Amino acid sequence: MGYVPGRFDRDGAEDMDRIAKTIFAPIYPVIAQQIIERCGISRGRCLDIGSGPGSLGIALAQASALAVTLLDSSPEMIAIAGGNVREAGLSGRVALLSGDVHDIPLPDRSVDLAVSRGSLFFWEDLPRAFSEIHRVLAPGGTAYVGGGFGTAELRDTIAATMERANPDWRSFRDRNLGADNRERVAGILENLGFRHRLVSDDSGFWVVMEKEG
Ligand code: SAM
Repeated sequence: MGYVPGRFDRDGAEDMDRIAKTIFAPIYPVIAQQIIERCGISRGRCLDIGSGPGSLGIALAQASALAVTLLDSSPEMIAIAGGNVREAGLSGRVALLSGDVHDIPLPDRSVDLAVSRGSLFFWEDLPRAFSEIHRVLAPGGTAYVGGGFGTAELRDTIAATMERANPDWRSFRDRNLGADNRERVAGILENLGFRHRLVSDDSGFWVVMEKEG
């Protein structure tokens, strides 16, 4: 298992896909359920930003009536996601879109639920990315953006397995999910002035941004 955080070329996409289908597999249905409960949205249009192989968006489609679009800036990830959507029998309800969170190729107010897991750590300009997410949200829509593993048990089991293969993995995770980064992201959201709340618990670190209806 040669997973290297931040490598999104063909090899990186294949590694992410393998991990998403094995070690990480149990987290996606758990996080999907948390999103549905915490955001109170289970129908309408959903955008999974930095979807990678599409596991979270697929789990959301399976657990709800949402029509999901998987957005990723890596064409290799989108190609793999396409295969996963077909395999799940969800081609009628899960679409694919190549694009960057800093310039989301969707109209204003076109998304009811925007989700993103494990991608914001790679975004170059967080104020611009969150402004783009806010732009595409429909009035009354919610964004759930962050990182984590759903529960403490899943987090700790995954950390132990990932660390065996890559000793740097825990420091990568701690940098992303640690107090300094949480405070940095919180400060950015505060400055932007969008209505939001922060979830910081065993499920991970999540920005829940709501657009006024
Ligand atoms: N969300 C998936 C998951 O949890 O399994 C994949 C997470 S993977 C660690 C991060 C993903 O974010 C990659 O697929 C990468 O291509 C994507 N990404 C990174 N920067 C991006 C950007 N600026 N716009 C859109 N996607 C981006």
